[in-house]
Amino acid sequence: MIQLYIPLNFLGVLYREIRQALTDIERMFGLMHTQREIADAPDARALPAGPASVRFENVSFAYDAKRPILFDVDFDIPAGSTVAVVGHSGSGKSTLARLLYRFYDVQGGALRINGHDLRSLTQDSLRAAIGIVPQDTVLFNDTLYYNIHYGRPGASREEVEAAARAAQLEDFIRQLPEGYETRVGERGLKLSGGEKQRVAIARALLKNPAILIFDEATSALDSRTEKAIQAQIELAAEGRTALVIAHRLSTIMNADEIIVLDKGRIVERGHHAPLLAQGGAYAQMWLLQQQEEAADGVAAGPRDEG
Ligand code: ADP
Ligand code: MG
Repeated sequence: MIQLYIPLNFLGVLYREIRQALTDIERMFGLMHTQREIADAPDARALPAGPASVRFENVSFAYDAKRPILFDVDFDIPAGSTVAVVGHSGSGKSTLARLLYRFYDVQGGALRINGHDLRSLTQDSLRAAIGIVPQDTVLFNDTLYYNIHYGRPGASREEVEAAARAAQLEDFIRQLPEGYETRVGERGLKLSGGEKQRVAIARALLKNPAILIFDEATSALDSRTEKAIQAQIELAAEGRTALVIAHRLSTIMNADEIIVLDKGRIVERGHHAPLLAQGGAYAQMWLLQQQEEAADGVAAGPRDEG
């Protein structure tokens, strides 16, 4: 609770900070200009800290009642394990991440953490438990340091630097004349898609949450950087509950379960090798990507030097 003797102008600052943080997160999710309709239930409880299991229980969802997006999606992410979701663009993968962060409530079924329906939890405690590396990261118009430190406001300089190192940002930062004090964002140094993703990864690693969501988190990276970061992501996900939405299938081969989503429905699920052997949608996507990667390897070097 905020104590009453705190001067009112400080509350104003605090309020602005909170608004800014909320705005940033909404922008990360591409939710600008959408209605925020989610409110805490009057008897909402805080999610206790600690290991978290996630359950999508027969989840159905539509942004617009006339156009259902998810149909009866049912899967578990046991505490400490990694579930990957793959599927064509528009199949509903990012929507799963938005529902888990509770930007929207499900219309059918339920989403649970440790058995608690998300609708019975406070949003603050829910969002404190989840770190997310979104598809498109929006940076604050502030320094690189601020943008990473934001992941956990109480973090020390050493912790911020360790997170930057783990996200393969150190060399990049070192060659900037102003280093961590370089201003970035719309009014500062323009970072490439890959650099922004690495800032988001550093932020999430620093936050150190029970649940991690990666939404195509390495899609803007060249394949060498991707491999280096992939190792860090796997390290970060170790012992945590992770939902990894993947673009490149080679990055999720080791997931505890792979879910193949097609037009809002789970069409296949399992481990990498059996899915390949099955010769269905997953095998097809895999084959296509192998061909693309082979072609890229001949035609061009790294794409976006991130
Ligand atoms: P993916 O991440 O698999 O590419 P998304 O979950 O982003 O897919 O989107 C699934 C479907 O929902 C798409 O058809 C998309 O156009 C639609 N969609 C996404 N966000 C919104 C929104 N805010 N309002 C209406 N429709 C949306
Ligand atoms: Mg998406």
